[in-house]
Amino acid sequence: MFILGGVAALTAHHTLPFRGYSARQLSLRMLASRAPPETPPETAWFADGLRFSCTACGNCCTGNPGHVYFTGAEGRAMATRLGLAEDEFYRRNVRRIAPEGADPDGGPYVITLKEKDAPDGKGRDCILLDRSTGRALCSVYEARPAQCRSWPFWSGNVESREAWEEAKADTPCPGMGVGPLVPAAEVARLASQDEEDEERMFDAAIDGTSEVEAVWRRAHAQNGKEGAVLDGTRGEESSPERQ
Ligand code: SF4
Ligand code: SF4
Repeated sequence: MFILGGVAALTAHHTLPFRGYSARQLSLRMLASRAPPETPPETAWFADGLRFSCTACGNCCTGNPGHVYFTGAEGRAMATRLGLAEDEFYRRNVRRIAPEGADPDGGPYVITLKEKDAPDGKGRDCILLDRSTGRALCSVYEARPAQCRSWPFWSGNVESREAWEEAKADTPCPGMGVGPLVPAAEVARLASQDEEDEERMFDAAIDGTSEVEAVWRRAHAQNGKEGAVLDGTRGEESSPERQ
């Protein structure tokens, strides 16, 4: 994950998926402190592999406020899946947030999917979670971002057996620990990719080279207004407009 030179003093907040929606909170500090030591899959606690089979319950797409990051290509794929022009997809479904410790008026900012109130009033759904059929399904499933595809094998979830069990219970994710065995090498590959993707995303945000932020700016410039800026620490919008 990220961070930023000079931002290491920022307070961290914690962290997880979104899908982990339930798990991926925005934190600048964790960027600095993360980078777990490389452990060969054959000697990791999950050396025998981990079982996983998604039941499509949707729990990892709702719950506590979280963040779903995506690349420019993934944004275009989601827009296409929904039949929307790229800029319209951003205006409807994307938000720009200032992580804890960042300047709400100056950044750096990161770009994530918006959220909406869950119907049970107990949390927040990913904006792309569709409950219209009575189930909780991803409306862009085939085009969902890598962050969603790699759940539950996020680096933070597999760093220890305790972390795995905590994510399983907190989400809760009924698919973790059951179903087909995912080999240790694949678990390690997904966790490493997750780590690298976040680092790349945060580096781009800090360097001002984020493609998705450029698209977000273009989309809102055309719309004649800036989107609400979220404070990653509080998970609340500084704008009165809920997104
Ligand atoms: S089973 Fe787990 S991964 Fe699948 S939708 Fe439910 S919480 Fe998400
Ligand atoms: S994009 Fe889809 S899979 Fe990812 S959090 Fe949103 S609803 Fe869930």
